[in-house]
Amino acid sequence: MSAEIAKLPTEPARRKYELFDDTGFDEVPKKYRKFYRRWGGEGDPLAPNEVLCPVCKIVIRSNRELRPGDRVYCMACMARLRVAEGPDGALVGLVEY
Ligand SMILES: [Zn+2]
Repeated sequence: MSAEIAKLPTEPARRKYELFDDTGFDEVPKKYRKFYRRWGGEGDPLAPNEVLCPVCKIVIRSNRELRPGDRVYCMACMARLRVAEGPDGALVGLVEY
């Protein structure tokens, strides 16, 4: 039996996030603004429900905690991203074609 399969019995419940604030991100239609925000650069930590788009450096926000393997869509540059764990343990977005 492979350790790879044994690794994922049941995944712990994800934390949910309420997104109701308009972040002022005006590159997407108003109803989607809460799912994106501008990144403040180094020193602007990302929440567990946020991942940075490596293409346009926009923060994509989810209404639930993100985990490696999740797929998100960046509406600003139309990139499809897969969430992965970076070298420092933080979540990073990898572009999928
Ligand atoms: Zn993007």
